[in-house]
Amino acid sequence: MEHQYDILIRGGRVIDPSQDLDRICTVAIANRRIAAIDQKIDVEKAHTVIDARGLIVTPGLIDLHVHAYTHSPIGLDPDSLCPAGGVTTMLDAGSAGSYNFGPFRRDIIDRAQTQILSLVNLSCIGLAAPNLGELRDRRYADPHGVVETIREHSDIAVGVKIRASSHIIGTGQQGWDNLNDAIGAAREAGVWLMVHIGECPMSLPEISNALAPGDCITHCFKAGSTRVTDDDGRIWDDVRSAAERGVIFDVGHGVGSFNWEVVEAAIEQGFLPTTISTDLHTMNIHGPVYDMPTTMSKFLMLGVPLETVIEMSTTRPAAILKRDNEIGTLRIGSIADVAVLEKHAGRYRFTDSYHQERVGHDLLTAAATIRRGEIVPGGGGTRMRHSVDGEN
Ligand SMILES: [Zn+2]
Repeated sequence: MEHQYDILIRGGRVIDPSQDLDRICTVAIANRRIAAIDQKIDVEKAHTVIDARGLIVTPGLIDLHVHAYTHSPIGLDPDSLCPAGGVTTMLDAGSAGSYNFGPFRRDIIDRAQTQILSLVNLSCIGLAAPNLGELRDRRYADPHGVVETIREHSDIAVGVKIRASSHIIGTGQQGWDNLNDAIGAAREAGVWLMVHIGECPMSLPEISNALAPGDCITHCFKAGSTRVTDDDGRIWDDVRSAAERGVIFDVGHGVGSFNWEVVEAAIEQGFLPTTISTDLHTMNIHGPVYDMPTTMSKFLMLGVPLETVIEMSTTRPAAILKRDNEIGTLRIGSIADVAVLEKHAGRYRFTDSYHQERVGHDLLTAAATIRRGEIVPGGGGTRMRHSVDGEN
């Protein structure tokens, strides 16, 4: 029998910030696109039915900071992250530079089922040896190579990356030379720049003032010397005004970059991140980061409303990637990238990057992940559940 739809995601709480949608309904997928959203669609019309009653249905999550280049010692396999985390699009945050972007594309990006977009590292070797500091030697800075790489791979290379910690870019004038090279490359290529903040040779107000609208500061809630807050715990005026003129403040949780005191102080002062991301790599996948839904759960614990948390993880990163007409949305006709999430109620321990624990009451997990209209294998068991309760 011919079915009108390939997949029906039945009866979930559909939250799609791009359409201001938050209600119980059924999502239908056909030909790899969202085909219908309605209160009730006959299950007989679909080849496959996912019973999403009691679950949350959102656009496929978009993680704006991951490391998916497995030739680098910190890189993770994107197609195993995708089903575990409900993430259908990930941005590799500069694991490769001009010398190794081609192999990254050939061996990983073009073969992955998960959509991977990428930043190009100012260092020509990217993160081939991340512990050694890829810009300690100025000869590795390759702004012209960055521009050429972005031109050659304009379909997937969407921006420039620099890790601006002193032990990576050097101190004093060398640090500024590297940062200015990264800014210059982004301007010349007509793309945005993501600046990883660590213990930087310049202050955060100085970095914020050097960036243009659309540029991004990742690891925005780290502790230490380079911080969004001053010594009194107040958000710097220059940081706030950078956010107001459109500089993106991205979570990039990571293994050393997310601190409860800083994030709590920021939220208390009304300073929320633009986007939630994980910075997943080999050294944080088994904690404290785990995955995107866990990182999102931490913001629920911090009092950010669920709809906003989802917006920060779907609609907003899609716009930053300039793909909001296709992804980060469940609008009819858009690509059928969907996350089915389960919200568990209980008492859950959450850990920041500084071994400090908090207890939250909501834990999101990925129940099923659909990428381009196909259920991604290995995405949890909930999609197999077909409740007979509430049948009529
Ligand atoms: Zn990173």
